[in-house]
Amino acid sequence: MSVAETGVSIITSTEGTNGGVGNNTNVIEPVDHVLTGGGALTQIVAYGEQNTHIGQGTNKAYAYHTYKSNNITEKIIISRNADIVLPEYLELTLTNPDLSIGEIKRLIFDLNLKFYVGSLEITNLPLNLFANLNEPMVVDSKLYINLCFNILFEDIKLLGLNYNEVSFRLNAIQGPSLLDLTEYFSDWGIVSKVTFLDTQERRQLASPQELRIPIQEINYFDMAVNRNNSSLTSDTFYFRIPSHGLSKGFFIEVDNINHISNIKIIVENDRLRFDLNKFLILTKCKKISDTILYFPFNDAKLFSDRTPQSYEAGMNLSRFNHVHMEIKFDIPKTKLKIYEVIFNVYKQQSGIGGLIFCRDNYSYLRELSDYDNKRKINALVDIKYNKPVFKLIIDANKRFCPISFDEIPLKEQYMSCTECKNNFNAKLLQNWMSKNSNTRKCPMCKTEWTNFNVYINNFEINNSILNKVKTMLKKVSSCGEDERIHPIISNQIVKQII
Ligand SMILES: [Zn+2]
Repeated sequence: MSVAETGVSIITSTEGTNGGVGNNTNVIEPVDHVLTGGGALTQIVAYGEQNTHIGQGTNKAYAYHTYKSNNITEKIIISRNADIVLPEYLELTLTNPDLSIGEIKRLIFDLNLKFYVGSLEITNLPLNLFANLNEPMVVDSKLYINLCFNILFEDIKLLGLNYNEVSFRLNAIQGPSLLDLTEYFSDWGIVSKVTFLDTQERRQLASPQELRIPIQEINYFDMAVNRNNSSLTSDTFYFRIPSHGLSKGFFIEVDNINHISNIKIIVENDRLRFDLNKFLILTKCKKISDTILYFPFNDAKLFSDRTPQSYEAGMNLSRFNHVHMEIKFDIPKTKLKIYEVIFNVYKQQSGIGGLIFCRDNYSYLRELSDYDNKRKINALVDIKYNKPVFKLIIDANKRFCPISFDEIPLKEQYMSCTECKNNFNAKLLQNWMSKNSNTRKCPMCKTEWTNFNVYINNFEINNSILNKVKTMLKKVSSCGEDERIHPIISNQIVKQII
């Protein structure tokens, strides 16, 4: 069997080995067969265990392997032929080798590569964005897109994931379906750097210690002035950003980013958080390509850094009711696309993996006038609720939990539906959600549940509020009001102080 057929093309590292690759090249078996015999590393860098524990550092070996599927409509399973896998490139075989890069880019414009652990979508890669970060290559009738996987996730510790299948799937958001695209792309693959560890290192990786990896998600949605009439243009795009989680910035994609004249972020309808004119856009945003601009909340932090520190001065979008963005252009546009960069933490333990924070579905199609959120929640391994915060229920009509039919007393925890605004006893609702894990809908209005904040039915007592209350009470008593309102503060006063 030739080297190419085995899927092993390069063996690059054999730290501390004596009778290593050079001597044993002709005994290396196909990667898929290597692990079946037990000690992965020893079989490809030396015979037996001799010579593999010389020197310092980790004993390991790298190789390249392309995980494949014959059809772009089918998933690629990352089989267990190595201990660690780092996906590097997406490989798409072109049926027509004469297609130009420009034509190919148009075909992949709305394709999304999704990374799954078990049935849970961990992160996704909008191909067009990644094709702009690094120019794709066509080699031997195959298109290669650099996935920059390290920007979103770490290398995959397959060895610690023995109970979850690891896979990639392509997903067409709009435009041509995957089935339509089979005319242009036949089979596909994930070109990966794979690592083989020595017995001791394998033991450590397989042990049930919890692994936590900060990851980034890219959630995108697109805007059209009118989806049915692609010739309609507008010089201002004003839209609501869906509430998702901790974000550190946005990519803005439009046919020519030099036409952007102003970017605004407006919080809760009236607070102007950002107002960038052309000068600030030029100096504080980062040009990715002629069509993509990165707008960070903190220009000292990099998009490519996925550490929590890189989210310093980020915005927790899910803690706002409304965050709007307004983009103005010198030359009117028909459509634009926004990619949000969102923080999450991946957790791996005892052979399975999952996410720490909940989030909405990744992809949206919305009209400019369409502000309603047709959001979906992915089926998650388990729901993580946010730490309770104080929020007094002001509206008397919303004080009754529709599950228990009881009033939600002061200091009790509750949760709130963003659609119908009903408040539910937190325990009862969480119980309901755990039983309806596939749908996770509001018991009342039946829309997908999106607000995982937990509230305490009270206002936060701090000195500033106490002082306000005291002043307020003084005012009230000096007006000759009845003392009975103390200590139960009337709704009117509460409304004024919150
Ligand atoms: Zn509801």
